[in-house]
Amino acid sequence: MTYENDNIFAKILRGEIPSHKLYEDADTFAFMDIMPRGDGHCLVIPKKPARNILDVEVDSLAAVARTTQKLARAVLRAFSADGVTVQQFNEPAGGQVVFHLHFHIIPRFEGVPLRPHTGDMEKPEILAANAEKIRAALEAV
Ligand code: 5GP
Repeated sequence: MTYENDNIFAKILRGEIPSHKLYEDADTFAFMDIMPRGDGHCLVIPKKPARNILDVEVDSLAAVARTTQKLARAVLRAFSADGVTVQQFNEPAGGQVVFHLHFHIIPRFEGVPLRPHTGDMEKPEILAANAEKIRAALEAV
């Protein structure tokens, strides 16, 4: 179980591939998930390389937790959601697909199930519009 520098989130952090950025501080980065399981589905990652919760340094994990709470509050406000689901997967058997630690943050609405993980990409204009709503809610905090 080693960290691979060419994973997709490492490339996003290095600016080698684009993302809809929501928030950044010294230790963390937040952006939209391109195959959302609900409108406003976003991700928080540490800047320091970590494969998942099993190898991350505790200070880096704490920074990710702080940013996750910030984003959870922001998506609740941005979408007038009834709740928020936070998910985090470790290793293939645990459901992990991208091997740079990340927390999923998904706004939830009474009676609305999560969409299946189909692998279909969301339209860029919808991701951009949802990202704008979340950034505005973050500024309002
Ligand atoms: P996990 O590893 O926790 O199972 O999920 C990885 C998540 O990363 C999925 O929700 C997937 O939609 C998302 N994802 C995969 N590739 C990309 C990408 O290139 N950009 C973004 N923004 N998200 C991605």
